[in-house]
Amino acid sequence: MTRITSKLPQTGTSIFTVMSALAAEVGAINLSQGFPDYDCSPVLIDLVTKAMKNGHNQYAPMAGLMSLREQISNKTEKLYGASYNPDTEITITAGGTQAIFTAICAAIQPNDEVIVFEPAYDAYAPAIKVMGGMVKSLELSPPDYRIPWDMVRRLVTNKTRMIILNSPHNPTATVLQQQDIDELSSIVKGSDILILSDEVYEHLVFDGGEHRSMARYAELRERSFIAASFGKLFHNTGWKMGYCLAPAALMAEFRKVHQFLVFSVNSPMQYAIAEYLKDESVYLDLPNFFQQKRDHFRAALAQTKFELLPCAGTYFQSVRYHNISDEKDTDFSLRLTKDFGVASIPASAFYTRGTDHHVLRFCFAKKQETLDRAVEKLLRI
Ligand code: GLN
Repeated sequence: MTRITSKLPQTGTSIFTVMSALAAEVGAINLSQGFPDYDCSPVLIDLVTKAMKNGHNQYAPMAGLMSLREQISNKTEKLYGASYNPDTEITITAGGTQAIFTAICAAIQPNDEVIVFEPAYDAYAPAIKVMGGMVKSLELSPPDYRIPWDMVRRLVTNKTRMIILNSPHNPTATVLQQQDIDELSSIVKGSDILILSDEVYEHLVFDGGEHRSMARYAELRERSFIAASFGKLFHNTGWKMGYCLAPAALMAEFRKVHQFLVFSVNSPMQYAIAEYLKDESVYLDLPNFFQQKRDHFRAALAQTKFELLPCAGTYFQSVRYHNISDEKDTDFSLRLTKDFGVASIPASAFYTRGTDHHVLRFCFAKKQETLDRAVEKLLRI
C-alpha cells in the first residue's frame, strides 16, 4: 500500500463531527456542534429558488457576486464605519472556515509563528501546520478567559507573522473589550504582524455590548483579514456561505489562493443573500433573538448541578461540572450523551494540549422545546 507522510499526524476527526455522529447514533439531543435546529427564513429560500429559476446557475465571479459585495460593503460601513472597496477588498467564501484557511494559506510561510489563544476553534492550528507555520498557543482559563497581554508581549518574536483573534469567542462566549483592543494595538504598532480576526459571531453580542470588529480601528484594519459567516446570520450553516474582508494588498494574495481552492462560491445563494441583506433588520434583530434563548437556557440550567460560566456573546453556553464528577471532560461528555441523552462539546478539544478544566460547551441555537427537553434530562444528574 502506498503511504503518504501525514502533514497533520496529531489531528483526528473534528470533535464537531464526532459528537454530532454520536448524538445521532444514540438518539441524544444534540447541543454539541453549533447549528440551529430550526429553519432559515422561507423568504430566503424563495429568493434562492427564484435565482435558480432565473438561470443563475453558472459560475459566479471568482471574488463573488458584485451586488452581494456591495451589500457587505454598505453593512460594514454602517456598522463599523469602515469603507471596504467591494472590487478589491471583499471576497465571498464557502463559509467562515474557508475564509480562515485561505487567509492562513496566503499569509503563512514555513517557520512563521502564529499566536493562537486557546481554547480555540479547531480549524486554526491545522491550517497553520499544513503551511509549515509554528503554532504559538497561549492558554486562557475559566471562568473569565481573559487574554494576559503581558504574556502575549513575551510571546512575540521577530518570527511572529500573525495573531489570530476570535470575538465573540467560540467556545468561551467572551467578547473583546476596549482594553484588549488598546493592548493589541500597542503590540502590533510598527510591526508587520498580521491579524486574522474570526468574527463569525459578530451579531451575537448580548446585554447591549459592542462588537469590536477589527474594521473599526484603522491601525488594526490595515493588517487584518476578517472572516465572516452568513450561516450564523441566517440560521443556515449548511449553505456554507461567508466572506473575507481585507485591505487590497492582502486581499490580492488571498484571492490568488481562493481562486484555486474553490474558484468561486455557488451562485444562486449569492443572488438571494444580496437581495435579503437589503433589509437590515435581518441582522440587527439577531442579538435580541439569541439573547432570549440564552436567558431561557441559563435560567433553566441554573436548576441543575452545573456551574454556569458567563456568556456575553455567541450561541454557546459553557458549564463546569466539578460538583458532579471528576472525570475527564471527554469521558464525561460521552457519558452525558450515552446515559443522559444530551450531547455537548468537551472544552479540552479546543486546546492543542488537551487541557481539561472540566468544562463542557452547549449550543443554545435551538428551539425552546429542545432546550427544555435537554435541561429536563440534565436535571436527572
Ligand atoms: N463552529 C461550529 C462549532 O463550533 C461548527 C463548525 C464545524 O462543525 N466545523 O460548533
